[in-house]
Amino acid sequence: MREEAGAELSGLTTLGMGGTCAVALSLDSREDLPAFEARRKELGLPCEVLARGSNILAREGRHELVLVRPCFADAPALASAEAAGAELGVEEGAWPEGTVFVTCGAGVALPRLLAFLRDAGLSGMEGLAGIPGSVGGAVAMNAGSFGCETGACLASVEVWNGEALVRIPRQGFDVGYRHFAVKGALEPVLVVSAAFALTPAPSSGIAERMQANLLAKKSRQPVTARSAGCVFKNPPEGPSAGMLLDRAGFRGRTRGGVALSEMHANFLVNRGGGTAEDAFALLGEAQEAVLAKFGVALEYEVRVLPCRSF
Ligand SMILES: Cc1cc2nc3c(=O)[nH]c(=O)nc-3n(C[C@H](O)[C@H](O)[C@H](O)COP(=O)(O)OP(=O)(O)OC[C@H]3O[C@@H](n4cnc5c(N)ncnc54)[C@H](O)[C@@H]3O)c2cc1C
Repeated sequence: MREEAGAELSGLTTLGMGGTCAVALSLDSREDLPAFEARRKELGLPCEVLARGSNILAREGRHELVLVRPCFADAPALASAEAAGAELGVEEGAWPEGTVFVTCGAGVALPRLLAFLRDAGLSGMEGLAGIPGSVGGAVAMNAGSFGCETGACLASVEVWNGEALVRIPRQGFDVGYRHFAVKGALEPVLVVSAAFALTPAPSSGIAERMQANLLAKKSRQPVTARSAGCVFKNPPEGPSAGMLLDRAGFRGRTRGGVALSEMHANFLVNRGGGTAEDAFALLGEAQEAVLAKFGVALEYEVRVLPCRSF
């Protein structure tokens, strides 16, 4: 386990904003978990998980909390049929015949898992191409795009519950729009690894679909700007959040060093020197305008840090 005092959130988030945390604990392997548990008790502070920081809007100031960095790097690997049942908790008949299971550490970059699946000829997650998070972050957020969600392929997850590593089978968790929760858990859990269920298919077709999704993403979203992806969730029905923001006049609107992108109004971008104070002021103004004009209360899709603690 690595420990860093006064970790700076601007360096740990893709938006590049935010203050400092009392301490960051980076967990490199499962063997670090007991020491982590002892250290967090010793510190007596709330914990928040931050992986690649690509969905985080961090507040300014000094936050009295422990930032947990899940770096579990077990490379993507094919699981045998026996392991699927015995170790991964996959129920017989839960997935179509011929399904192939792949395990991966939570700290692995999602693009690396997707490259493995492409080369192995395993289909199901092509829509996630271009999402810059970790595998654990994709699970925790149920990240999705182009009609594909992480949770749809999720066979089981391995989590640390504060005392032990436990394997949660599919029926033990709920997934929804940008939502993942272990049933019955009172606090958010730390995802250590995940097992995915995939369908064999020609690599060439998988590569083509991933490439097409990447190009579509690049043509619609400011992917090279400092952002955290979509800042608000789409309402359950009606126009998307981006469309509402656009119609309320917020496309390209700036405040200090931040802006809602010209390219996609639901992308908050840091134009350089942007602060969380600017961001919350602009986002609050946008929420008020959309509520007044369309009667829709926009909710954050990004996780505001400090947000939920365990
Ligand atoms: C350019 C760009 C494009 C994007 N496009 C998309 C998109 O198309 N679709 C989409 O859904 N998202 C998109 N995102 C948002 C983001 O990349 C995803 O939500 C991603 O899955 C977050 O992963 P992360 O590792 O960065 O997690 P973080 O941002 O570090 O954390 C996000 C949340 O997950 C929790 N978390 C992270 N890891 C773990 C873990 N191991 N155990 C428990 N909890 C954990 C954190 O506590 C936090 O609440 C985009 C972001 C950017 C910058």
